Formats: sequence, structure tokens, C-alpha cells
Amino acid sequence: MKFPSEPFKIKVVEPIRRTTRAERERLLREAGYNLFRLPAESVYVDLLTDSGTSAMSDHQWAGMMLGDESYAGSKNYYHFEDTVRSIFGYKHVIPTHQGRMAENLLFSTVVKPGMCVPNNIHFDTTRANVEHQGAQALDVVVKMAYDPHDESPFKGNMDVIRLEETINRVGRDRIPLVLLTITNNSGGGQPVSMENIRNTRALLERYGIPLFFDACRFAENCFFIKEREPGYADRSILEIARELFSYGDGCTMSAKKDGLVNIGGFLNLNHDQWAQDITNMLILVEGFPTYGGLAGRDLEAMARGLREVLDEDYLNFRVGQVRYLGELLDQAGVPIVKPIGGHAVYLNAKEFLPHIPQAEFPAQSLAVSLYREHGIRGVEIGTVMFGTKEAGTGRTLHPELELVRLAIPRRVYTNMQIAYVAESIIDLYRRREGIRGLAMTYEAPMLRHFTARFEELEDRSLARAAS
Ligand SMILES: *Cc1c(COP(=O)(O)O)cnc(C)c1O
Repeated sequence: MKFPSEPFKIKVVEPIRRTTRAERERLLREAGYNLFRLPAESVYVDLLTDSGTSAMSDHQWAGMMLGDESYAGSKNYYHFEDTVRSIFGYKHVIPTHQGRMAENLLFSTVVKPGMCVPNNIHFDTTRANVEHQGAQALDVVVKMAYDPHDESPFKGNMDVIRLEETINRVGRDRIPLVLLTITNNSGGGQPVSMENIRNTRALLERYGIPLFFDACRFAENCFFIKEREPGYADRSILEIARELFSYGDGCTMSAKKDGLVNIGGFLNLNHDQWAQDITNMLILVEGFPTYGGLAGRDLEAMARGLREVLDEDYLNFRVGQVRYLGELLDQAGVPIVKPIGGHAVYLNAKEFLPHIPQAEFPAQSLAVSLYREHGIRGVEIGTVMFGTKEAGTGRTLHPELELVRLAIPRRVYTNMQIAYVAESIIDLYRRREGIRGLAMTYEAPMLRHFTARFEELEDRSLARAAS
């Protein structure tokens, strides 16, 4: 196992408070066993998401002091525009306050009711923004993406054969664009190969359909290409990124991931008429085209972050630290999804807790236990998030996978804290028989995972005994 030594030293620290098990037990009860409802201050290692949680560098913080807060034509916008264009290479650079606004502007302009948008796998805000236009969001990833034991190097790839079948079935005129999410967040942070991108491009060119990237983790994807794909070992991450984006017509970006900032995003595209329509909408809902919902200082931090994320020492550490956690767990026999992705390790709760049926939310139970026993917060990706009700019977349909995602914030935790996370999970795995299932006591009609409440099944049996 390669130890991922940090390519930085610590200049500013943010204290974190340790809590007792009794305190966490009380907080869990008050939160209805929903980790989204916990105060973040009571979490020791917070692996809920890698979005907007990065630590900025001294160079980025210094840039914040150089913010030009002019309404129009801020110098930070020009720096941001030059930087983005030099990496992504598209004609129009439109800043937004985060990724979903870029999605909303693009789809509200080009997607019409009754259309279809294929993607390898849609991220949840992407899917919601496509569906909000009355269109259908289709996932066309290669089949192996759904097998947690398949160790293929590029499990984020588009299934090009199925994509062509899809185009022929729904008709070219009903597909305004095709998306590729790099890396594939909802499919375990797995990368897409350059070869697959080239093949997807060639197919779409034959049908005259534009290709866009959901580019949130583009640098991590380029790092995997360098590491795994023949012919790229001696190319720089910047060169790989430029080639990759040259096969597309534009991209949406949440800079809260590989922009190394706490807020920011953008939309890039070559199409002049679309860009004009989108810019008019931007002014209506987000802001003037040279700030797009952000302050000048945010644009400066983003411009600097986009340069830093291409640094190979940084990426070696970043992807290495995620892999380090995964390998510690794998070596101890803890069931995880393989291969280990770019931004997160996923615990396979079906195998971790075979004694808890899916109707009792094994992944949620595992996430709850990890917080109660060790103060670590992950996120459930299973029946709570994706369970659906069958029309007519109202019976719950369970998703194929029951996972707990441990997303690692960028440059935030030391390797010691990561080792602590591994030790804690291994401890929990040894005592897994003691973990009980949950019952859901409240659910909202949509996106229920954010606000659902639960009770523990042992509590319920105690309550029954007492009454
Ligand atoms: C985070 C994310 C988005 C949405 O970006 P926000 O900045 O959260 O609005 C879109 N796609 C993917 C793949 C993401 O990970």
C-alpha cells in the first residue's frame, strides 16, 4: 500500500470538538436518526460530501483579498475567463453560483417537453433539472457499473452500443444533447476513458448531436486516464484535460468539487445562439455575465483553484488518500465497492449487515452506528435515498445497491484522521451482529432522505414491552 504523503503543510487550524457516545446517542434521537439533521459541530470526521468542503490554499486566500467588486468587467472575471478557456477550450464562459444553476440555464434553453437526455448516470440535481423541463433523463452507463465486485478500470464509461440503440429508438430530433459525467459520481466516482469519450463523440457526430460534459471531477478523471489508459502516462494533466474537452461542445461545472472552492460554478459552450439565450436568462435569474451570482473574490479563488487542481502532486495525494482508506478497509475484509473511486469509498451495507433486510434500511443503520460509536458522518445511498413506491400497490421497491458513501473533502483531513476512520469501521465490522435495523416514521413526498425520521427497531420493541 502506498502511503499518500501530504504535499502541503498546515498554516491555519480549525478546532474540532470530540463528543461522548452518550451525547451522540442523544443527538441521534433528537435528529430522528437522520444524519442530515445533526449539527455539524458535533461530528468529528465529516464525510457527508466532498462538495464545497475543500480547504483553500494560501494562494487562493491571498487572491480573495484582490477581489475587484465592480458590477461589470471585474478584473477577476477576466482572470477566471482566461484560466477556464485555457483548460476547457470552449468559446463562451458563463459563471454561475454553483453547478445546478449551470444545468438549469442549459436545460431550460435547449431541452423541451417530451425530449430525452442520455448520460452515463445522471447526478440527482442533473436528473431533476432535466425532468423539470418535462423531459426524460436516461442512464446509459456500461452494465458493469452496477457490479461492486467488477474491478474494470473505467466503470464510468458510456455504453456506446446502447446509446446508438437509444438514439434510433427515440429519434435524433428528440435528443438535444448527450451528457457524460466525469467522474461518474452516482456510479461510485468511477472514471470514463479517453477511448470511450472518442467513441461517444464519433457516434454523436454521425447523428449531429452535441456532447456536453458534467465536468465536476474532471481533474480526478484525467488523473485516472494518465494512470490507467495506454498512451497517457507521459502526458500532463492539463494536456489530457485539453484533449478530453476537445471532443465536446461544452460543459457544466460545479467548482465546489475540482475548482477547490467553497462556492462557484460555470457553464461553457461553443454554440453562439444558445450562449446568447443563456446569457439573457442569466441576467434575469443569476446576475450580470461578468459575475454570475458570485463576488469578484470568489471568481479569483476559483481561477486559482482550477490551476492548483491540475498539479500532479496534489492529485497523487488526493486520489491516493481516498485509495488509502479503501485499501485499509479492504485488507481487513470490510466489504467495499471496487475499484476505489476518485472522491469516495463506498461501504457495501448488504454484505456488511446481511442480517438486516432491505426493508429495515441496512445502509442507514450502518451510517447511524458509525456516527454513534465513532463520531464519523457518511451518507446513505440506498433504500432511503432511492427506494420508490410501486404504483397501485404502494409497495416499496428497493434499489440494487445499499451503500454508505464516505466522501473525502479535499486537503481537509490528515492521513491520521483517515486511519482513524478505517480503524473505527474495522471495529464496527467486528461488532456488526449488534447493529439493529430501523423503521421510518416520517417521509416527505420528494427527496425524502434529507428530512426523513426513523426509530430503532430495538427501541420500538422496548416501547411495546413498556405499554
Ligand atoms: C455536485 C454535482 C452537481 C451539482 O453541483 P452543485 O454545485 O451542487 O449545484 C452536478 N453534477 C455532479 C456530478 C455533481 O457531483
